[in-house]
Amino acid sequence: MIDTLQIKTTKTSHSRLGETDFNVLPFGKVFTDHMFVADFEDGEWKNFEILPYGPIAMSPAISALHYGQAIFEGMKAYRLPNGEVSVFRADKNFERFNISAARMAMPTIPEEVFMQGIASLINIDKAWVPSEENYSLYLRPVMFATDAELGVKASSTYKFVVLANPSGPYYNKALKVKIETHYTRANEGGVGYAKTAGNYARSLHPFAEAQKEGFDQLIWTDSATHQYVEESGAANVMFILNNKLVTPAVGETILNGVTRDTIIVLAKEMGIEVEQRKVSIAEILEGAKNGSLTEAFAVGTAATVTQIGSIGYDGELYTLAEVSTRTISPAIAKKLNDIRYGLAPDQFGWNW
Ligand code: PMP
Repeated sequence: MIDTLQIKTTKTSHSRLGETDFNVLPFGKVFTDHMFVADFEDGEWKNFEILPYGPIAMSPAISALHYGQAIFEGMKAYRLPNGEVSVFRADKNFERFNISAARMAMPTIPEEVFMQGIASLINIDKAWVPSEENYSLYLRPVMFATDAELGVKASSTYKFVVLANPSGPYYNKALKVKIETHYTRANEGGVGYAKTAGNYARSLHPFAEAQKEGFDQLIWTDSATHQYVEESGAANVMFILNNKLVTPAVGETILNGVTRDTIIVLAKEMGIEVEQRKVSIAEILEGAKNGSLTEAFAVGTAATVTQIGSIGYDGELYTLAEVSTRTISPAIAKKLNDIRYGLAPDQFGWNW
C-alpha cells in the first residue's frame, strides 16, 4: 500500500516494554506504548496521529455514551519466523468495520486510514509483537460518536482509535455452554451483524446469569422461535455432524466472523463437506445422544478454536465426545495457525 497519510508522531518518553511481563498477559489488559488516533470533522477524516497510549479528554455529553454509536474490530498480528510481522486478513476486518459503520449511521472509513493507522501503530510498537508460539499482538480499532449534544441523532463528529495488546495463549479447556432460550443477542431487522457496542452490552446480563448456573458460555438462539442455534458468546459456532462441518448461515442476526470464513475455506480444501444453513437445537441434541455429533467448537479471533465439552438445555446437560477423540477441528486449527505464523505457505494471500 502507498504511504499517503500524513501522520504526526509523538513518541512516548518512557517505554513500558521493559516493565511488562510477557508471561502474564490477561486478555486486553496490557497496552503497547502508543495508539493511533484520527478525527472525522466537517465531513472528512483528518488529524492522523500516533500518540503515547493514554486518556483522551472528552465531554461527558458525547453521543457515543448516551446513544451508543460505537463500533469496533478485533484482529491479530503475528511474528513470522523471519522476524517480520504479519496481520491476518485485515482486509476482512476493514470491510466489516465499514458494514458496521453504515448500519450505525456512522461515516465509513477510507481503506488507507484504517490500514495505515494499523501499520503505523505496529511499526512504532513492533518490539511489542511477541515471538513465542501462540502469542500475538491483538489490534483493536474503535470508532465512536463525539458530538457533545444531547439530541437523539447521528453525530456529525467521530473519533477513530487503534489500540494494541500483546496477547498470550488462550486457556483452551472445553467449555460447558448453555443454550439460551429466553434472552437473545440479535433479531431480524436489528444490528446483530454489526460489531457494535450495544450487542455486547445486552449479552452481559444473560452471560452473568449463565455463569451463576455454572456455565462458561452461552449458545444464542434465534429471537423468533428459540429453535435454531446462532452463535456462541462472542464467537461463531460449528459442529461436526455425520462427518460434515455444519454451521449456522450468516445473515442479519449473526456476525460474519473472519475465523469462521477462514475455517470454511480450509475445511473445504481439506475435503471436508461444509453445510452453512439453519441448525436446529433438536438435531444438535439428537446428535449428542446418538453419537453423530462428534465435535462442537466456537471460532473467533481471540480463541481461534475452542472446544465445547457439554451443552445445557432446558435443565439437562448433554455431554459430548471426549475432546481427545476429536480429529477434524484440531486439524483445521493447526492448519490455520501454521498459516498465521508463517509456518505453512500462505496460499490464499491472507497474511498482510
Ligand atoms: N461473533 C461475535 C458476536 C463476535 O464478537 C466475534 C468476535 N469478533 C465473532 C463472532 C468471531 O469473529 P472473528 O472470527 O472475526 O473474530
